[in-house]
Amino acid sequence: MEYGISTKCLYGDGRRVDTDGSGAVSFPIYQTATFAHPAVGESTGYDYSRLQNPTREQLERVVASLEKGIDALAFSSGMAAITALMEIFQPGDHIITDCDLYGGSIRLFNNISKKNGILFNHVNCAQLLEGEGTDGLEALIGESTKAIFIETPTNPMMNVTDICKMAGIAKKHGLLLIVDNTFLSPYFQNPLELGADVVVHSGTKYLGGHNDTIAGFLVTSSGEISEKLRFIIKTVGSGLAPFDSWLILRGIKTLAIRMEKAEKNTRQIVEWLCEQKPIVKVYYPGIAESPGYEITKRQARGFGCMVTFEVETKELALSILRKVRLIQFAESLGGVETLITYPITQTHADVPKETLAANGVTDKVLRLSVGIEDVEDLIKELERVFYE
Ligand SMILES: *Cc1c(COP(=O)(O)O)cnc(C)c1O
Repeated sequence: MEYGISTKCLYGDGRRVDTDGSGAVSFPIYQTATFAHPAVGESTGYDYSRLQNPTREQLERVVASLEKGIDALAFSSGMAAITALMEIFQPGDHIITDCDLYGGSIRLFNNISKKNGILFNHVNCAQLLEGEGTDGLEALIGESTKAIFIETPTNPMMNVTDICKMAGIAKKHGLLLIVDNTFLSPYFQNPLELGADVVVHSGTKYLGGHNDTIAGFLVTSSGEISEKLRFIIKTVGSGLAPFDSWLILRGIKTLAIRMEKAEKNTRQIVEWLCEQKPIVKVYYPGIAESPGYEITKRQARGFGCMVTFEVETKELALSILRKVRLIQFAESLGGVETLITYPITQTHADVPKETLAANGVTDKVLRLSVGIEDVEDLIKELERVFYE
């Protein structure tokens, strides 16, 4: 019997592992670099923590079960995870990616992966898949195309791509579909079930949930990809350390209740934002008129806790950032604390200006990661920073 998702946050797929027979309810931190062998040719199952460590393995079991994958690998950051993933490609391979992505992913693709011989097209996937046809996207696929890399909703403009439709195109052309699922977390969305081959997470965000640890994940439903990634993680050495693995394990225990509370707060905040005159536009897939609303309802169990909005002037955007007190002006998202971000100078500072402009990321755009505070306090804070 498969557990429900809240139960899985505590126990994963249910294989409770009592590694030392003590009955410890909290999984121990195996703070060790290496493991003693009983004899030549014998192993306890662990050799060296770069390859695997019991605490990291427990975390990987929990994340694999939450994302319904056959394997999950825990990395030292979301970027380390995506960097490792790029190692499965060869020079000359071509990857189609969304044009509105986390700025760090675009920086990696354009500066490191490109140098390693991988070619990219950055396109607006949500727009290309709108309506019936898929020709616009399929026209970009050539002999050397190997994968499609998307985020949905995207960071920061909240564009929603139909994962099933994208998976159909990927299958038809023999491409891997990679979905960065950081924004909705496995609590709200499971791309592998919708046909994706690899799911990426910045574990720093909702999985960790407390703005206190950096981590990343790759989850896959393919034995072949899992084998390749296991070889890469042990070879390049970017696996998550034992203590950080434990912090993320602890964070995940409350993923379900954090997501519920933060999403409830977000709905109320979005309602408030939509009524304010100095706000030109609110980007949130839970708004019934938003282009991503119907798709999100089909493919996810919630709309998430991220909202982006455009204000009338740059001056107002800057004054909001100067005035916030309860809400903190900081990079990152997905933690219990509400954070406000200015994508143009923070998360997306290294993205070419033309790309940003084409996506609508201007100096009037702010991004809110809604936390679990009392929503009345958050709305009072917003009223103050907008109008006082
Ligand atoms: C933060 C983030 C990343 C990068 O993760 P790190 O843990 O910061 O390295 C990747 N994708 C998305 C969508 C993110 O928000």
